[in-house]
Amino acid sequence: MPESDDRYRQVLRMIDAHDIELIRFLWVDHNGIVRGKAVTRRFLESRMESGIGLARSRQAANLMDIGQPVPGFNAVGEVRLVPDPSTFVALPHAPGSGAMLCDLVQLDGTSWDACPRTFLKSALAAAGDLDVVASFEPEFTLCDARPGPGSLSVLDDSLCFDNTGFDAANDYVVQLTRALQGQGIDVELYHPEFGAGQHEMTLRHGPALRAADLSVWQKVITRGLASARGMWATFAPTPGPGFRGNGNHLHLSMWKDRPGLGPVNMFADDADDLGLSETAYHFVGGVLRHLPGLLALTCASVNSYERLQPGMWSGAHACYGQDNREAAVRVPSRLRGSTAASTNIELKACDSTANPYLALGAVIYAGMDGITNRIDPGPQLAEDPNGLSDAERDALGLGLPRSLEEAVEALRRDDYLMDVLGPLRGQLYPAIKRADVEAVKEMGPELAFLTYATRY
Ligand code: GLU
Ligand code: MG
Repeated sequence: MPESDDRYRQVLRMIDAHDIELIRFLWVDHNGIVRGKAVTRRFLESRMESGIGLARSRQAANLMDIGQPVPGFNAVGEVRLVPDPSTFVALPHAPGSGAMLCDLVQLDGTSWDACPRTFLKSALAAAGDLDVVASFEPEFTLCDARPGPGSLSVLDDSLCFDNTGFDAANDYVVQLTRALQGQGIDVELYHPEFGAGQHEMTLRHGPALRAADLSVWQKVITRGLASARGMWATFAPTPGPGFRGNGNHLHLSMWKDRPGLGPVNMFADDADDLGLSETAYHFVGGVLRHLPGLLALTCASVNSYERLQPGMWSGAHACYGQDNREAAVRVPSRLRGSTAASTNIELKACDSTANPYLALGAVIYAGMDGITNRIDPGPQLAEDPNGLSDAERDALGLGLPRSLEEAVEALRRDDYLMDVLGPLRGQLYPAIKRADVEAVKEMGPELAFLTYATRY
């Protein structure tokens, strides 16, 4: 039996086990919004291969749902949502509904250049025999109701790692943990975070495509279960004025199968002070070289730059350093007992308004440029950059774009990133982001915060 048939049968078993009637075919748009169409159980089989039709121009929509006038995106033209059966989940917050994540595919079945999931697959192919292992680490703000104009009421005002924060959110968080685990999603860690109502749940790392898929399910289920209880969970980088930022830190390492040894972490080198290999340093070199433009993809909204500020531990400085929480790239100190396996780098300048496939794909491409061209990241920054003078920070080149507008401009000027994005996405993505910038300017701050707190 072909593997795809086998996976389809597994989907059918889960559909029967959970008494599912409607199956959502979902994709993630350029703003990180999860969208889709659904098919009934009865007609699922034929749609597994043919997919469900979608107007091409939906992939040109900005945050206001207005399609941007990019050539090739208008009233004419269609693509298909084709599901990956290995991504199936029975949605724990929506009884009777299941969902799969889809690729956006052209009518003849070939891949479409505006499909974010396909972009990540192409980045993984560009990494050759290096297998990328990743995890996203999202923070979110728990509210006791959906925020409205002038009202954002958080569930708890506990301190960072405060035991009362665990208690305040316990029923919900235990339900969420069980719900994720019930769908085969490995939850590893959880804690109440620094900000009011802020929490963080971390999934176990895994192969990069799966990590991006799981980050979608984590957000869908976290929000869905909160809403089903009358609460609200927002992943907005900054849900309201004065709030601590919600990051979505991205952890990465690259592995290779070695004969007789099995998978070996190519980022690890015990002889190095930070435990990093030459490959890892070059990867970091590539990420730092492209960081200004990368930010348009990892800190992908106007609201992102409310968070990406010095002093917020959000990684607002263009440097790397061991356990340096102000560095865009933190090198986490390794875990005793699994030093080689736990070696990874963490991009802190990443949040949940990013499309995870585009963000992860672009970071891999940037890192691969570093590996291919042996880009030296220079020495680590072993101190808090906030303790330096402006002149010292300038001399170290720590500055980064301070707005989405600046980041999109940096992306447009980055020939390498524009080349890997390809002509279609390279035109589409900046156009959507520029439209968001203009729309948010017109809103004024109060409506802008509310829009992000309710959309993300
Ligand atoms: N909330 C911070 C951020 O915006 C991060 C705090 C932490 O280091 O976990 O990234
Ligand atoms: Mg955190």
